[in-house]
Amino acid sequence: MLKKFSVFMLVCLLAAGLAGCGSSAPKKEEQKVLRMGMEPTFPPFEFSDDKTKEFVGFDIDIMKAIAKEMGYKLEVQNLGFDALIPALESGNIDVACSGITITDERAKKVNFSKPYYESGLTILVLKDNNDIKDFDDLKGKRLAVQIGTTGAMEASRTEGATVREYNGLNEAYLELKNGGVDAVINDRPVNEYFLKQGGGEYAKSVGAPKEAEEYGIATVKKNEELAKNIDKALDTIKKNGEYQKIYEKWFSK
Ligand code: GLN
Repeated sequence: MLKKFSVFMLVCLLAAGLAGCGSSAPKKEEQKVLRMGMEPTFPPFEFSDDKTKEFVGFDIDIMKAIAKEMGYKLEVQNLGFDALIPALESGNIDVACSGITITDERAKKVNFSKPYYESGLTILVLKDNNDIKDFDDLKGKRLAVQIGTTGAMEASRTEGATVREYNGLNEAYLELKNGGVDAVINDRPVNEYFLKQGGGEYAKSVGAPKEAEEYGIATVKKNEELAKNIDKALDTIKKNGEYQKIYEKWFSK
């Protein structure tokens, strides 16, 4: 009787053990990775933190929140601004979020999310410049811009202007400081941030911002699903207050 009972117990234990093995130790699933490209001289949207050397900024926080919503881990890659769309086209990255203005031309090559930030172009000149007061005054002047940007497009439309294109925005600002150019054309929030962070000692902003531009998150053309899911996640973080929190972190006065 006792022997029968212990055999029975042994079978039970074995069964429980096996069942336990099956359920308590599932194969660890690898978290899906979302590869994001950005150009890191565009504070406060994306830049390298002086101390930690990590990439930080509004776009990075927004994309981290979106990736989390979608169940992805975000991996951030540093690329030239003009290399972002080619990197999407070749499949080297899944998404580009880098203060990218939605334009018809770009929308032929990539999908854009709904707009997530409203921007526009402004002009920076040296503090003692009383000659340039608006976009019309840029004709025939020496201009610095970042390569491949809407600022560069605006400069190239400016009659008689000599345009210098730089890979990083820092270099464009430096050229203004050194007197190598008369003005920098670039996005308003980034110019404002630059003035506040010390650039205001030698530079100033002039004129009314040129036409509204909207930033969008760019994704691979053939992956419509990804674009839709990003829009959905963007809606969610706007509704649940996460977007607002991130906005205040980077843009509160
Ligand atoms: N918004 C501008 C553009 O899309 C500049 C972006 C940037 O320099 N990161 O061209």
